[in-house]
Amino acid sequence: MTVLGATPAHASTGEAVNPWVALAYLLSGVFFILALRGLSSPATSRTGNRYGMIGMAIAMVTTLLTHDIANLVEILIAIAIGAIIGLVIARRIAMTAMPELVAAFHSLVGLAAVLVGWAAYLNPGAFGLLVPMDTIGTDYSLPMQIGAVSKVEMGLGIAIGAITFSGSVIAFLKLSGRMSGSPILLPARHVINLGTLAAIIVLTALFAMAAPAQTMPLIVGLTVLAFLIGFLLIIPIGGADMPVVVSMLNSYSGWAAAAMGFTLGNTAMIITGALVGSSGAILSYIMCRAMNRSFISVIAGGFGADDSGAGGGEAKEQRPYKQGSAQDAAFMLEQAEKVIIIPGYGMAVAQAQHALREMTDILEEKGVEVKFAIHPVAGRMPGHMNVLLAEASVDYDKVFELEDINSEFAQADVAFIIGANDVVNPAAKTDKSSPIYGMPVFDVDKARQVFFIKRSMGGVGYAGVDNDVFYMDQTMMLLADAKKMVEDIVKAMD
Ligand code: NDP
Repeated sequence: MTVLGATPAHASTGEAVNPWVALAYLLSGVFFILALRGLSSPATSRTGNRYGMIGMAIAMVTTLLTHDIANLVEILIAIAIGAIIGLVIARRIAMTAMPELVAAFHSLVGLAAVLVGWAAYLNPGAFGLLVPMDTIGTDYSLPMQIGAVSKVEMGLGIAIGAITFSGSVIAFLKLSGRMSGSPILLPARHVINLGTLAAIIVLTALFAMAAPAQTMPLIVGLTVLAFLIGFLLIIPIGGADMPVVVSMLNSYSGWAAAAMGFTLGNTAMIITGALVGSSGAILSYIMCRAMNRSFISVIAGGFGADDSGAGGGEAKEQRPYKQGSAQDAAFMLEQAEKVIIIPGYGMAVAQAQHALREMTDILEEKGVEVKFAIHPVAGRMPGHMNVLLAEASVDYDKVFELEDINSEFAQADVAFIIGANDVVNPAAKTDKSSPIYGMPVFDVDKARQVFFIKRSMGGVGYAGVDNDVFYMDQTMMLLADAKKMVEDIVKAMD
């Protein structure tokens, strides 16, 4: 395959830059930016998705039309197989399994970057990466080798791709419950991590400078170490810190694609990778702020996993609590003037959002003011609750972020917690040994009455810690599946 639309870096191979290709890739970049803009609000997210699909179609068609393809049929068959698998998964996937699916897809982006990097290393001529072996690379009568700049891009792409792959596999295993969510702490892990990262950087530099015959052990070494560091960075992360990891891996997958774009001289990949990389980094930063975590320690890995605080899943002491029925809840909700609903992961599991919307409508008809309070890490993926509430046509103007609504609990008659747990756990404010310590949480204890829907007293939240809210004087536990409980409350109100 020869690159016709090569960037100036590849012009050293003597190939012309095709302005139409550059324009088409730029156009696809514009569509990707519009897609990101659309995805920033549930109201415009469908349009955003469509823009993304158009951008990707333009990029793919341009690439296929402007390269000398060895076997177009093979490529089309591969695209068709991938598209069918994607379509089936997208149609079948339950909303609750989205987070692990996203992690699994990130791992594929990482693996693709590693494979492209290796393909370019093993067959550099096909990628237009060969330059003459003189010092400035212009004497074409000399034997050819891979240029030093291309080797740095290749090394970085493989390293970031391998870290993304192995990190995402661990995130997938943790999010899908196949691996314990508790942090796994190796002794001296910070030293091991920093040492491994330093070794990867040194190997990349040696790889870029080495003579062709000596490069193989160096690229093998850096690939193996990069796979290893991906595992090492993510296994110590537990408690409630997975959301930041997921958005960080999203960002890494973008940078891996951008590095590959440089290797392949493909502007569309550079633009797309940089967009994904930087938007993922911004999201990670926002999530870090929301979680009160340091951005730098997230990038370095192993945060949220102090040896003292790894207390997930501890046995809970037996303490007295009050349990109520749907009828009790219905009666008190109807008497209230102001109700704040805090949805969490359990609402997604139960798919209770439609019943909740019905309950909200009835309360509003009775003159009760109802607001929804959304924590930035509620559920199992960024925006999880917003998507579900939008699906049930809850008005956006009733939905509030943590910092905008937290002060209103003091005036609320009822805090209605449905399937949330960690995001209302006061241990985040008071218990320094808790894995969620430092994360801002809703001040539900300030509300006059608290209803807490969950299935049993035994179940814990994602961070695996007990919650004092269960045992407060004003709390009534409503122990049932969230959808069933809300449907029963609606019936009782009728
Ligand atoms: P939690 O995971 O803390 O709590 C979920 C609650 O829902 C539990 O109390 C559980 O109790 C209850 N529940 C589960 N199924 C049902 C059901 N069918 N009916 C009724 N209740 C149910 O949820 P939060 O949303 O409060 O917190 C999110 C947590 O997930 C945070 O720790 C966050 O860091 C983490 N996380 C978030 C991600 C994100 O991007 N948003 C990504 C990865 C992790 P029981 O089992 O007894 O029913």
